Amino acid sequence: MIDLRSDTITQPTSGMKQAMMEARVGDDVFGEDPTINALEQKAADYFGMESAIFCPSGTMTNQIAIRVHTAPHTEVICDAKSHIYLYEGGGIAYNSFASVRLLHGDRGRITAEMVEDNINNPEDVHAPISTLVSLENTMNKGGGCVYDFKEIEKISSLCKERDLKLHLDGARLFNALVATDDDPKKYGKHFDTISICLSKGLGCPVGSLLLGDKATIKKARRVRKVLGGGMRQAGFLAAAGIYALDHHIERLKDDNDRAKTIANALEGLSFVESVLPVETNIVIFKLANSGLSVDFVEKLKQKGILAVPFGKHDVRFVTHLDFDDDMLNDLIEKLKAI
Ligand SMILES: *Cc1c(COP(=O)(O)O)cnc(C)c1O
Repeated sequence: MIDLRSDTITQPTSGMKQAMMEARVGDDVFGEDPTINALEQKAADYFGMESAIFCPSGTMTNQIAIRVHTAPHTEVICDAKSHIYLYEGGGIAYNSFASVRLLHGDRGRITAEMVEDNINNPEDVHAPISTLVSLENTMNKGGGCVYDFKEIEKISSLCKERDLKLHLDGARLFNALVATDDDPKKYGKHFDTISICLSKGLGCPVGSLLLGDKATIKKARRVRKVLGGGMRQAGFLAAAGIYALDHHIERLKDDNDRAKTIANALEGLSFVESVLPVETNIVIFKLANSGLSVDFVEKLKQKGILAVPFGKHDVRFVTHLDFDDDMLNDLIEKLKAI
């Protein structure tokens, strides 16, 4: 099977397993797991931020960030296609009692102007108090598209001016970084918190990190405990994270390139109406003649290809660590034969 459902499906490599087996561990709820402490510091340093907290999932790191930055009667501003809104089970309301203001950006990317137009007057008792702006980079629902950093700078200065916090859902931030060659420390400078996933392109079995300043991450530890995310000898998992930061960032370029090759091949095929421009490791295409994505995905499965329906007529492929050039060639042959 060629499995392109998600970049979460990868198996740990032998080098990663070796690192996990050899990890020194301790009780992380007591702050005594040396491998988790090292991973948190390494990730924070990579982005030039003060501190970090290791969590079981990206949903948890996002939800903790929202909880720490908001309060009841406040509002989160984000794009309507955001993972925090669409795919986290209504957690903004459930965990934080906060309201949400949905914007409609370009494939999920919002602008400073759009944010500015949607900040509520804090003196008006009718309106929730705008407190947090959340961006997603790369943007999953937008086909893995990447923010222009100039726009991020504009949003960040607006947030400072208007006393709003700025969070980044960076589940696939490393795919964006290798695509643009942007300095990760620029991200650290402009966001109050950043969530990164180790279990996507980086190929770890489990884990995400929330990055921020010391005071914010201290609050995050309290929220993580309440959510049941305080793990004990989880250094075995953190060791995979350290290994991935050392060995799996540069190779994301291959995932991004293979996704482009798939998109180019799809462009010429009769069952494809259009393909979203590919910037990183996600390919989303629309079926011709109003073809139904559920039916098409089933047809692919019969040919040994796994994908996910991504809307009524759209299909998503995601490239990853366990998808190589031989599989790529095989995939393209099979697609051409449909
Ligand atoms: C995968 C993902 C997350 C986190 O998902 P988990 O499965 O909870 O780790 C967050 N944001 C985006 C954009 C994602 O793609």
